[in-house]
Amino acid sequence: MSSFFAHLGCTKCARLYDRDSRFGVCPAEGCGGPLFARYHDRPLDRGAVADRPRTIWRWREMMPVEAPEHVVSLGEGGTPSISVERLGAREGFSDLWIKDESGNPTGSFKARGLSAAVSKAKELGFARIALPSAGNAGGAAAAYAARAAMECDVFLPDDTPPLFRVECERYGARVTLVPGLIDACGKLVAEGAAEGKWHDVSTLKEPYRVEGKKTLGYELAEDFGWELPDAVIYPTGGGTGLIGMWKAFAEMERLGWIGPKRPRMIVVQAAGCAPIPKAHALGKTTAEKWENAETYASGLRVPKPFADFLILAIVRESGGEAVAVSDDEMRAAESEIGESEGMFVCPEGAATWSAAKNLAAGGKLDRRSRIMLFNTGTGFKYV
Ligand SMILES: *Cc1c(COP(=O)(O)O)cnc(C)c1O
Repeated sequence: MSSFFAHLGCTKCARLYDRDSRFGVCPAEGCGGPLFARYHDRPLDRGAVADRPRTIWRWREMMPVEAPEHVVSLGEGGTPSISVERLGAREGFSDLWIKDESGNPTGSFKARGLSAAVSKAKELGFARIALPSAGNAGGAAAAYAARAAMECDVFLPDDTPPLFRVECERYGARVTLVPGLIDACGKLVAEGAAEGKWHDVSTLKEPYRVEGKKTLGYELAEDFGWELPDAVIYPTGGGTGLIGMWKAFAEMERLGWIGPKRPRMIVVQAAGCAPIPKAHALGKTTAEKWENAETYASGLRVPKPFADFLILAIVRESGGEAVAVSDDEMRAAESEIGESEGMFVCPEGAATWSAAKNLAAGGKLDRRSRIMLFNTGTGFKYV
């Protein structure tokens, strides 16, 4: 498989750990920061991947799995970047794109992260995984666990639409409905993990989901001839995709595949759960828990992202923005995208279009620049 995986590094205290260690977060006293996979600096020709199958595993040297037999794949990744001229023309945008993640296995980009995390869990010898989910992560974890012959426990808020529960159950996962939100679910998963019941694969509380999601960044560069777009608008819950892309950009620059240019990284959240825009507006480096979080965009209902400090740093460093849009704006945007482009997007994806319009109207986004919106999943799951 020839992975360049070298070791794990803590994003908070910079301590290093062996690549075969089974830590979820940094074990140093008083730290507990997210861990990142770090790779050896070795030459790799970006043209070498061109003929490989279009899944996240085409970047295998920069993925953390070492033995090919441990890769658990359902064909995730390799999604199209689609030029949306008719949609853009509605509001005067001239170089607008949508990265359409709806064709992923289990209908969302969560497949990227869970393919990577389950593969690495298999390599490390874990037989049972568990996670809290707002919906899509649970389905993806359950699917990849089934394929890996692993047990899977999914903890969902008890008001999650039934479809998400049914999907997990079809893949043979055990589902627990929890009163409260995803943070209450996360607490139960952490307790079970501390008792040794299972391996916790919560967003950024294990190092490998972000490795799967970083492939969004590699694909973005490849899709545009190794020149990144001017702005990326990303519907942010836990922030794994945003953080992953930023990591991918740095990796690609070290590989000599891209230059120092970075897109403005724009976070969009729901008005009913907007901890990142609030913290960003106040100039804070961490976010406070958002009380009574409410939005039908379930992927955005994360009241306190674990890696808030990484998200906020990326927004700042990239000269980005963090904005909130209402559920009504998302509904309207779903129809505009559907009518203009024939794409049935999820509410989270629709939110990126609402954000683009609002930012441009406020003079904070250049309508002539190359802008990539992310449709992170299919609309079918939200009917
Ligand atoms: C989970 C999810 C998000 C948020 O993704 P993060 O990388 O955790 O911020 C956005 N959209 C959909 C459809 C999701 O399922």
